[in-house]
Amino acid sequence: MVSKIDHIGVAVKSIDEASKFYEDILGMKVTEIEEVPDQKVKVAFIPTGDSELELLQSTDPQGPIAKYIEAKGQGIQHIALRVDDIEQTLADLKDKGIRLIDEKPRIGAGGAKIAFIHPKATFGTLVEICQRED
Ligand code: ZN
Repeated sequence: MVSKIDHIGVAVKSIDEASKFYEDILGMKVTEIEEVPDQKVKVAFIPTGDSELELLQSTDPQGPIAKYIEAKGQGIQHIALRVDDIEQTLADLKDKGIRLIDEKPRIGAGGAKIAFIHPKATFGTLVEICQRED
């Protein structure tokens, strides 16, 4: 059901600033920057091997990433696990009584179908499940 870590979401105040570390110091490459108005974020994709880092910068002081940084500071905000059938996965989780943030998939960065599991059900980690075609 879960095939791999799809990406790790990292909350940053500034993609411009943070990407310098990954590009200039670690030699990684930002391949694309996309805005997801629905989640009030700008996302920078940094692929590495079979997974990627996603730098998340808020586009709105009231957005979830801005609030996250205000409460906890910059850093890892969520991990995303790739599944092949997100509807099925959500149905299974619901059957098992797992608390979900998203009962239905929504469209996230890169056109993926995504849904978040409540961190109270995952021992504190915000876990995203995602399905994408590639
Ligand atoms: Zn994500």
